[in-house]
Amino acid sequence: MNKVITSSLELKHFLKDYQSIGYVPTMGNLHDGHLSLLKKSLAENEISVISIYVNPTQFAANEDFDTYPRTLKEDISKIAALSKEIIIFAPKNDKEIYPQNKSIFKVDHPMTKILEGKLRPGHFDGVTTVVKRLFEIVTPTRAYFGKKDYQQYLIIKEMVKILNLDIEVIGLPIIREEDGLAMSSRNNYMSAEQRKAASFVSKTLISLKDQLEKNSHIEDFLKHLDDFKKNHPEFNYLELCDKKQLLPVNKPCKDLILLANYQMGDIKLLDNLEI
Ligand code: AMP
Repeated sequence: MNKVITSSLELKHFLKDYQSIGYVPTMGNLHDGHLSLLKKSLAENEISVISIYVNPTQFAANEDFDTYPRTLKEDISKIAALSKEIIIFAPKNDKEIYPQNKSIFKVDHPMTKILEGKLRPGHFDGVTTVVKRLFEIVTPTRAYFGKKDYQQYLIIKEMVKILNLDIEVIGLPIIREEDGLAMSSRNNYMSAEQRKAASFVSKTLISLKDQLEKNSHIEDFLKHLDDFKKNHPEFNYLELCDKKQLLPVNKPCKDLILLANYQMGDIKLLDNLEI
């Protein structure tokens, strides 16, 4: 039922006669967050493709490219458990994605330089480089992204606009563990003690959202947020932004989002909450 394809050309040939292709790009080590995207794709398209590829161009030299969990066998079993026809694209080597060189494709937008982009310089350039290449190979009708990486989702939408691609980019809700921690392939890096403490991030976001909704004066809320950050320097950032451009907010407006990156030892926990 499932088909594992490791060659870009073979995938292109396989997909050429389908009317609608749903696509979920991932780096593998699948969890329920990834599977929620795949389920949505299955419901909306004639055929669904999930790619599993740890993309070297989106990791900085000091990051975890070498140790990133590669669990293809387990991932294939999790996909098989959905009992649907799903194409798994697991490129057999980097040449399948970058046949000539790894020349970088940048989206020229201020959003790529703030928040996660500031914390991880060049990260989004690597992401847009690989997603552009994957889109060329898969030619999806619809592509599914998790709002766990909200900034990435907006940047991919921007890329599709800039390149005038006929692809619908769909953002889906964050899937969380029982204690509120956003699921992530990197959560297994945490010690038992860190894992216990990690729900602090989502709890903080919920409590800030409550305060914002109760407090009619945004200035008061921003003052509170500033004080909170001074007392919690472990947050690499914790910002109230507008949902479309991620610009900081200083006057009342609708469509807001709280975005956080929390440093837990060597691990960066990413989370957000829409308001
Ligand atoms: P990754 O394998 O981490 O590159 O993620 C692949 C896709 O899964 C991205 O679109 C992520 O935003 C999405 N994703 C990761 N974690 C979650 C989650 N907890 N809930 C929903 N989507 C997620």
